[in-house]
Amino acid sequence: MPASTPGDAHGFRRRGVLFVLSSPSGAGKSTIARLLLADEPELDMSVSVTTRPPRENEVEGRDYHFVDLEEFRRMVADDEFLEWAHVFGHRYGTPRGQVEAMIAAGKDVLFDIDWQGAQQLFQIAGGDVVRVFIFPPSMTELRARLERRGTDAQDVIDARMERAANEVSHWDGYDYVLVNDDVERCFAGVKTILAAERLKRSRQTGLIGFIRRLTR
Ligand code: 5GP
Repeated sequence: MPASTPGDAHGFRRRGVLFVLSSPSGAGKSTIARLLLADEPELDMSVSVTTRPPRENEVEGRDYHFVDLEEFRRMVADDEFLEWAHVFGHRYGTPRGQVEAMIAAGKDVLFDIDWQGAQQLFQIAGGDVVRVFIFPPSMTELRARLERRGTDAQDVIDARMERAANEVSHWDGYDYVLVNDDVERCFAGVKTILAAERLKRSRQTGLIGFIRRLTR
């Protein structure tokens, strides 16, 4: 995917980072994502489309675009998704147009998607993608967090716990793994990853001009 952000004083330009955060639900990924977006003006969130009904506190267009199955199928048929997957009996997908617009505007893009999404995005955009997986400190703690959150019924929580074990088993499809036993520490780790990834030579696209001027 062509991606480049405005250059700095030295004429450096760089390709945008497609930054994927995955974790079992309840491991604190949403908190980390919120902190990151508040702290990083060059980073925008990809808002997914889902057939899951909204939870009580969720807002259309902010948390998800909520659609029915028919509309989701139409979007798949019209190739409107960069990636999509079945998760917990519902469908979730990343709308292509929105991500392309963010990249064109010189932004890095944050994705809260599962391992299937991370895998598909990596197939499409390889070197632009950075995949980060956040582990809960323990499965007991994960269940406690889901219960404290109070947004899901007990059978949904049981299903999420089962799903969590499956999600965790895909750790080897990620570039970085972190344990969220302390939100501030985990957040600092995620920020460090983003900062280092932005500086990677392979993302810098204005280097030749700079080197020519440097060695003239
Ligand atoms: P929830 O229903 O708790 O909001 O999300 C359930 C799971 O779906 C989470 O693991 C989340 O990362 C994943 N998910 C959300 N949006 C997308 C998407 O667009 N694509 C994929 N592949 N997974 C998504």
